[in-house]
Amino acid sequence: MSELSQALQAKVAHSKEIIKKIIADHSPVVFANSLGAEDMVLTDLLAKSFPEVTIFSLDTGRLPAETYDLMQKTEEAYNIKLKMYYPDTAALEEFIREEGINPFYRSVDLRKSCCGIRKVQPLKRALADQGAWITGLRRSQSVTRTELAEIEHDDAFGLYKANPLADWEESEVWDYIKALNVPYNALHDQNYPSLGCSPCTRAITPGEDVRAGRWWWENPELKECGLHAGPTTALK
Ligand code: SF4
Repeated sequence: MSELSQALQAKVAHSKEIIKKIIADHSPVVFANSLGAEDMVLTDLLAKSFPEVTIFSLDTGRLPAETYDLMQKTEEAYNIKLKMYYPDTAALEEFIREEGINPFYRSVDLRKSCCGIRKVQPLKRALADQGAWITGLRRSQSVTRTELAEIEHDDAFGLYKANPLADWEESEVWDYIKALNVPYNALHDQNYPSLGCSPCTRAITPGEDVRAGRWWWENPELKECGLHAGPTTALK
């Protein structure tokens, strides 16, 4: 790890301690890999050092082509299989028949319904019977995440949640990716710092908040998809 600065090596070591602790205390542990920059750092850490953690991804059906390319590249680079989860077909068909193909722009409620079917319900299935999940959330990512704990109880999903990159800055995520040649989404090079579904993500201009390209038609306080918006109990 000599390519990393001493400060970043210390952060990596601390992140690994958090991962070790959550595995020791709350196995089985899974990692929800959204293929964003932070999650690629975690993929690198987990694939190299913690193979006992199952890595899964949610395919909403509306992801950009570049994200699918990265899924393929990730599986090849680390010789792993991403465990994929999909929306319930019947629920999705009914929703689209009633509300149309792009209902999310019409109201926050419809946007949350879409996220519910395409992300939250599949996530519930992915987290069922697990002891804890790992995420790539960082405190400085958005106004909704400033109080983020490293390990907390996720009261909404009923298991523990570890955020090993909670104290990382965005520049450190990219220092790690570049230094260790970690694969990343090609859209990041086109001013998409935060990636999600294609119709709900756009490029930002320099100086804008990193989450400004997500659900840009909504208030910042409402910009969570339901995966991380539930009540939590901080443990440390
Ligand atoms: S991000 Fe947009 S397309 Fe994706 S699940 Fe949410 S509302 Fe639907």
